[in-house]
Amino acid sequence: MKPPDPSLLSLNTATVKARWNLAQAIEGCARHGIRGIAPWRDKLAELGLKKAVSLIRSHDLSVTGLCRGGFFTAKDWLDDNRRAIEEAHALEADCLVLVVGGLPEGSKDLIKARERIKESISMILPEARAAGVPLAIEPLHPMQAADRACINTLEQALDVCDALGEGVGVAVDVYHVWWDPKLEEQIRRAGRKRILGYHICDWLVPTRDLAFDRGMMGDGVIELKKVRSWIEAAGYPGFHEVEIFSERDWWQRDPDEVMRTMKERHLSAS
Ligand code: ZN
Repeated sequence: MKPPDPSLLSLNTATVKARWNLAQAIEGCARHGIRGIAPWRDKLAELGLKKAVSLIRSHDLSVTGLCRGGFFTAKDWLDDNRRAIEEAHALEADCLVLVVGGLPEGSKDLIKARERIKESISMILPEARAAGVPLAIEPLHPMQAADRACINTLEQALDVCDALGEGVGVAVDVYHVWWDPKLEEQIRRAGRKRILGYHICDWLVPTRDLAFDRGMMGDGVIELKKVRSWIEAAGYPGFHEVEIFSERDWWQRDPDEVMRTMKERHLSAS
């Protein structure tokens, strides 16, 4: 299989978050010739939206996603999601990534939580459409159903998309969906129009922490080239966003080394 186009590489700033603020990440991308960036909102707030927009524009970077909106089962979800849509609009982000939220505090009713999430997305959808901000539902690995997201497969996410229509799609994060026996079929079902983001890293064996031990591409067991072939067959032309939460390894390293490794592994292992 042909290596991917290096100009499609994007940095999800979580990958370097322990050592770089957003301004440093933007400058780091420019320095390493990486054309895409996906900021997290805590780092965005720290820098300030205006400054972030001007710095990203001055380096001519594409914002491949804003992380994140969602958490629809939390108390202040509506205002927070409205702000997230405004920020994504100002950044001209390809999408606002939705981590939809888990069970409300004290509840065990998973079915109801999922209903509530669908309703909440339908409530913010008109604003998102008006702002030209596509909403990308990111299914999370089922181990996070209780606390972070009770949409756990691409199939479930696409069922919500089908119900809600224009303006909602999915972010395919290999870390969350690599194990799914229906992955190929559901990527095909999503198609070009609904795949709004593609997040890459690797699944380490053993995994020492369920959230913060993601691996660099090539260091684990995900068949990244195969998944990319499915994504490409579906017609997705967009960025490959490297998102690595790694408390014990990559967050400890010099971010310039992380960026160099990311570039190499994007070509050799993804
Ligand atoms: Zn992701």
